[in-house]
Amino acid sequence: MPEHAATLPDGPLMSTYASPTVEFVHGRGSELYDVEGRRYLDFLGGLAVTSLGHAHPQVADALGRQARKLLHVSNLFANEHNGPLAATLDRLLGGGGKVFFANSGAEANEAALKLARKWGGHGKYQVISAYGSFHGRTLATLHATGQPAKHEAFQPLPEGFRHVAWDDLDALEAAIDPSVAAVFLEPVQGEGGVNPATVEFFQGVRRLCDERDLLLIIDEVQTGLGRTGEWFGFEHYGVRPDVVTLAKALGNGVPIGSCWARAEVAEAFVPGDHGSTFGGQPLAAAAARAVLAVMEEIDAPACARRAGAVLTEDLLALPAVTDVRGFGLLLGAELDGLDARLVAADCLAAGLVINGVTPTALRFAPSLLVTDDEIHEAVSILSTVLDAHAAARTERP
Ligand code: PLP
Repeated sequence: MPEHAATLPDGPLMSTYASPTVEFVHGRGSELYDVEGRRYLDFLGGLAVTSLGHAHPQVADALGRQARKLLHVSNLFANEHNGPLAATLDRLLGGGGKVFFANSGAEANEAALKLARKWGGHGKYQVISAYGSFHGRTLATLHATGQPAKHEAFQPLPEGFRHVAWDDLDALEAAIDPSVAAVFLEPVQGEGGVNPATVEFFQGVRRLCDERDLLLIIDEVQTGLGRTGEWFGFEHYGVRPDVVTLAKALGNGVPIGSCWARAEVAEAFVPGDHGSTFGGQPLAAAAARAVLAVMEEIDAPACARRAGAVLTEDLLALPAVTDVRGFGLLLGAELDGLDARLVAADCLAAGLVINGVTPTALRFAPSLLVTDDEIHEAVSILSTVLDAHAAARTERP
């Protein structure tokens, strides 16, 4: 066994993830390298995080500069980055809002859920979310997550969550009563299998929220910042939310999340209502400012649209792929009865990082800067793996 194989994490880590089989030590753009120096193409992007690829020079420079200057002061004091970062996010979101910074997607969503309760006031606190959704792993975001199997071991969960079928406006309307404060949805269910909804559904939800005085909270943790071919996933449906949460791509790998709300909604929070030691701290905020500057420079949504069209076309040409769904560079490829998780494992062994997002679908979330050559190479690796799986299936008695 090579000497460095011992560096695969074998310390006392809790078993919250299956044991990894690969340890990556460096990356550049869409490429990753493991401890043995083997090259991989990264078409998962650290779960839709590294939208600018690995080791982006402008992000690395911003981090290096800030690390040498000031790492942390706490939110009891101003820092030079979080105000301008909030202003850029607010501008991208259409203006007129305010931002709270957190450290992850779940924390950004917790902020949104607490804001909805504070805004709703006494007796108006329920949140309606969708079956198949994913909103995080804290107790409240776990309950918002519409996957009852994930709830079981952690009962009782904080009360105040109702789930309705995805893309079903009648079901959602039936769940509304005076105790409901907000509707909480992803524009495309990412972890649930890359499932978009219809324009009619989202427009209907917006109308219901207006009529019944509810907040529309959109979880853009996976879809936000260009990934779907628009700055935000909700733009595909022509609706304007009241609250928007972001994380993943915001720091391109540096942990940071944000919760934006229309100013009248944001005003529900007063000092002491919410907080975070690290949220919006100088290092993470400097990284996020650099990320947004690069994203605006390259027109991130246009990159995702262009490369997404190439990837979709290549995937649809594979005989084992029956359907490609999603927007931009958040795509799910449905397989013709093959086991997506085994296919993804064999792709990893062959130098391509993707994941099985459902038992029958693969997820693709590469860097928005991925090249056509990298797309063709990745799909060629996948094609070889799919052919082998299809042949093995044919041979089985
Ligand atoms: N919301 C969505 C839509 C997500 O996809 C995720 C993570 O996959 C989360 C929230 C939770 O984010 P985090 O893991 O950063 O807490």
